[in-house]
Amino acid sequence: MSLLEITDLAVRFRVPGGRLRAVDGISFAVDSGEAVGLVGESGCGKTTVARAILGRLPANGRIVGGSIRLAGEELVGMPESQLRRHRWRDMSLVFQGAMNALNPVIRVGDQVIEPILQHERATRQQAQRRAAELFDRVGISPARMRDYPHEFSGGMRQRVVIAMALANRPKLLIGDEPTTALDVMVQAQILDLLESLRRELGLSLLLISHDLSVVAETCDQAVVMYAGRIVESGPIAQVYAGPMHPYTEKLLASTPDVRGERAIGTSIPGVVPDLVSPLAGCRFNPRCDRAMTACLEIDPPELIVDGHRVFCHAVTHDGRLPPPRELPVLEHARLVADAETQSVELVE
Ligand code: SF4
Repeated sequence: MSLLEITDLAVRFRVPGGRLRAVDGISFAVDSGEAVGLVGESGCGKTTVARAILGRLPANGRIVGGSIRLAGEELVGMPESQLRRHRWRDMSLVFQGAMNALNPVIRVGDQVIEPILQHERATRQQAQRRAAELFDRVGISPARMRDYPHEFSGGMRQRVVIAMALANRPKLLIGDEPTTALDVMVQAQILDLLESLRRELGLSLLLISHDLSVVAETCDQAVVMYAGRIVESGPIAQVYAGPMHPYTEKLLASTPDVRGERAIGTSIPGVVPDLVSPLAGCRFNPRCDRAMTACLEIDPPELIVDGHRVFCHAVTHDGRLPPPRELPVLEHARLVADAETQSVELVE
């Protein structure tokens, strides 16, 4: 049994003009001690997945289907009072932007001590001892527990937030873009810290990022999301070395490679589709250079090759992605737009 099992999860947001399909029938799992990266552009639904797991959707959001199981226990539909017990103790979150997670007028040590006192039967002395151990573990001298957040650099503040997230010894740590606001050197240090904590404490990690290279450094598995759906998932080495979905391929090409010839990443033409009235078929079709007629009509089928899963009409049964089609992307987008209002035959 996996520590976290998400099955057919669907989340909707009430917005002016209808209901936004933020997450649409996604399934994946995180095993004990495993690190899984959830990747995709802004607006693809990855943060919504994290909020759904923690039971912290905004007021206009609702889980409308599926299941979220943590250590076999169903979280969907669980009363808030019960769910609150799981947050911090069994799962906790590291946000991007540590300054927002820390209270600027409370000493950092007290901010780590507080969840220990709140969620466990510990004396203040015991909580202080644990907080000091945690500071030490994340690479900050316990002598600095009396300092305030503004007295730390961005990277050190993020270490304090990680110490806070570990205060109640959770089994699952969710990192929502935990390194996005940091410079490259500090980002590498924080990723190293997360990796060593995972190994030393046997934690499971769900790392949410728009950057596939961040996930490649830290995770065992990658789950790629596009427009509320999973398009590809599998062992990170396989996804990184041989993407089977055109979107993952483009996401990788958009990442600057400092070692190879590709100095500047290429952008992905087009924008994420409207999720209030999403397109029929594959949601990537207006931006895809392999699209064919079936992509405009039928949801892409699932294919699994050696534990590497993809949803795409173009990929062959042995997991090969044929070369891009000749049709320019913008021309294709125009045809798709036409197809929505009238019947247009695509040239294949
Ligand atoms: Fe989607 Fe079709 Fe492109 Fe595959 S080939 S990503 S199914 S549009």
